[in-house]
Amino acid sequence: MGTVLIHDPRFARLVIGHAHLEKLWTGGRWLEGPVYMPAARHLLFSDIPNDRLMRFDEGSGQVSVFWPGCGFHNGHARDHQGRLISCEHRARVVSRIEHDGSRRVLASRWQGKRFNSPNDVIVAPDGAIWFSDPTYGIDGDYEGDRAESEIGASHVYRRDPDSGAIEAVITDRVKPNGLALSPDGQFLMVADTGRSHQPDWPVTLTRYRLDAKGLPIQPGETFSTLAEGFYDGFRFDAEGHLWTSAGRSVHCYGPDGTLGITIEIGEIVGNLCFGGPKRNRLFICAQTSLYALFVNVQGAT
Ligand code: MG
Repeated sequence: MGTVLIHDPRFARLVIGHAHLEKLWTGGRWLEGPVYMPAARHLLFSDIPNDRLMRFDEGSGQVSVFWPGCGFHNGHARDHQGRLISCEHRARVVSRIEHDGSRRVLASRWQGKRFNSPNDVIVAPDGAIWFSDPTYGIDGDYEGDRAESEIGASHVYRRDPDSGAIEAVITDRVKPNGLALSPDGQFLMVADTGRSHQPDWPVTLTRYRLDAKGLPIQPGETFSTLAEGFYDGFRFDAEGHLWTSAGRSVHCYGPDGTLGITIEIGEIVGNLCFGGPKRNRLFICAQTSLYALFVNVQGAT
């Protein structure tokens, strides 16, 4: 655990030689959805099968249960006002916690049908909320409540910041999962974990160019593929490198798709995000444990 492999010398400067992978906490069943809240200096993350939202407090180093019985949250994001945006498996919605603590549902249906189980969510610079909607939260009772898909497909959706209208923007994936917008505003990156349901389906990150209105153009182009395991969640750093879960490791790719760095974690990585006051600490949610590594670059968000 913690071995850092540099595949391309151009990436060596992103790694701090004497920094080491820290295991901050263990004891979860399947960790996901990390989001750093700068004003509180804490990291929130999901422990989905245990139906709880956890909190790592940077000041004390302690991890505690933040919200027991939250409703099987998966992915999270922080909006431009610092509010928590959540993907809820049980309610099959995307919601927001307002400053007064109340919960507001932002997205619950598309064309009159309930979503499957929103998985990953991002907030775009214009305030639009983008989220993926595979079926993992309704496939069984482990990560939500078993149910049939009403939509019958798994898409990526965009909620308009002004009208609240919801539009399907990516419709050519089997199980769209992790999402990120490139810091130059040119691309949307989407992970596809469709191999969980179709054994011959390739594990890919697909890059979609955005048109003049900021909407993705289908089909996208394959950015990278993974032979073993899955890509799930990921983030860009401010220089355009993509840091992603990749099976039991974290991979860092250059903007052209070159694999530059592998960080071996030793258990299946679900998601990651940048945090800390300088946004230079990579927080990694893997299967049972929360890890962190300081890096020599800042997260884009
Ligand atoms: Mg995910």
